[in-house]
Amino acid sequence: MNTCLFCRIISGEISAKKVYEDEHTYAFDDINPQGPTHVLVIPKKHIRGLKEAQVEDAELLGRCHLVAAHIARQRGIEDGYRTVLNVGPNAGQSVFHLHVHLIGGRSLRWPPG
Ligand code: AMP
Ligand code: ZN
Repeated sequence: MNTCLFCRIISGEISAKKVYEDEHTYAFDDINPQGPTHVLVIPKKHIRGLKEAQVEDAELLGRCHLVAAHIARQRGIEDGYRTVLNVGPNAGQSVFHLHVHLIGGRSLRWPPG
């Protein structure tokens, strides 16, 4: 049995509000949104996080970002959004299946906390 939360969301074992899916990627609303749009874009392949990603995952990482840009375009939030990868526990990574946060629909401060 796969114990990874996001792998279980991809398989439908755990429900989530799906926003987008293609052969390589899956996107769904974050359960604890930090803005009007807060979507998580993940590769279907289980990768623990950015620091575990390999050269052969480069295309997949690009795909996740392009899906985020696509969703942002669809939602009309292109005046300002952020894509974020939290890497490691000290940066707040709590789920160890690589995910790109897409946050937008409000003004965003810099630097992030
Ligand atoms: P991170 O802290 O960068 O690892 O991000 C994990 C994100 O997953 C957080 O923003 C959580 O709110 C979100 N999350 C955790 N469980 C679920 C779930 N079952 N469905 C949707 N989002 C979730
Ligand atoms: Zn996983």
